[in-house]
Amino acid sequence: MTNKKLKKKNTGTISRGVKTSSKKNLLEVLTLLKNYWKWIVPIAAVIIAVIIILKTPKPVFDGSRAYIDLVKQVELGPRISGTEGHLKTKEYLTAQLKKYADLVSEQTFDFNDVHDSSKIYNGVNIVASFNLSENVSKRILLCAHWDSRPFADNDPDTSKRRQPVPAANDGASGVAVLLEMARLFAEAKPKVGVDIVFFDLEDIGEVPDSSKIKSPQNPFGVGSEMFVKNNAGYYPEYGILLDMVGDKELRIPKEAYSINRAGNVVEKVWQAAATVGAKAFVNEQAGGVMDDHIAFLKKSIPVIDLIQQPFPKTWHTTNDLPEFCSSASLQQVGTVLVEVIYNEK
Ligand SMILES: [Zn+2]
Repeated sequence: MTNKKLKKKNTGTISRGVKTSSKKNLLEVLTLLKNYWKWIVPIAAVIIAVIIILKTPKPVFDGSRAYIDLVKQVELGPRISGTEGHLKTKEYLTAQLKKYADLVSEQTFDFNDVHDSSKIYNGVNIVASFNLSENVSKRILLCAHWDSRPFADNDPDTSKRRQPVPAANDGASGVAVLLEMARLFAEAKPKVGVDIVFFDLEDIGEVPDSSKIKSPQNPFGVGSEMFVKNNAGYYPEYGILLDMVGDKELRIPKEAYSINRAGNVVEKVWQAAATVGAKAFVNEQAGGVMDDHIAFLKKSIPVIDLIQQPFPKTWHTTNDLPEFCSSASLQQVGTVLVEVIYNEK
């Protein structure tokens, strides 16, 4: 009995002590809240933002930064083998890639002019590799041609047809998107290996004319043919080629050779386009285009061609200028690439 009384007494004392202390603590907390409540909302917002950022592995593609690189290439002059513009652009692209890639190399090759065998073009393919770790299970190829067409043979003004094409869209647009991708790969390392390749000598060919074609060789893919030949052991899981992806009225249907030979890659890319709402990617089949992906398809490497069809009015004219391109178009293509690459494991 005594013990119980004592217990009760003791318990009461303890509980009264706790109650007093709780009241005091509560008052302190309320006072603190009164003084600092203004800060609670912003602090919570910062914490939530940090959590969201940490949970979002996909970086954000900057179309306006890509557009600056499109303009830059045109300003450096026509990118024709043997000219100052070609040399300066090669130096610019290589220097940019070296800032972001694990490894950058220039693969040189010679090509004899089909009309004048004494004329030799010194071609340069530029290769930048990201995530070269041995633990990486697969590699993906992203590519574009960096050369520009030496003659504007589609210009409505016949007097301009021997002039070079400025090639803002037909060349510079794909390269500009991939330079921005290189920056993103340095910011947020993808889980897969990625190789960015800029092909030279894509655009010295003649537009196919069935009456003149004597050989099945692709006239629009000298650099990519040389790349495949000189890198015989290179087998990426798949590849995506960008060509003419900068027009203000961008429209990319599914190119026929891509559907026939790399249909699963086409579906993967169009699925990504639907996810990010890239409306330029139309769900429609278009004709086949002789382009840099053909060299890979011949070797059963699934590489698709993202190319505007029908070709824009500026195609192979002196009017292929930055003013007919837009950062919004580059943004759409880049956002789709981010979605595709950062979904890969
Ligand atoms: Zn072209």
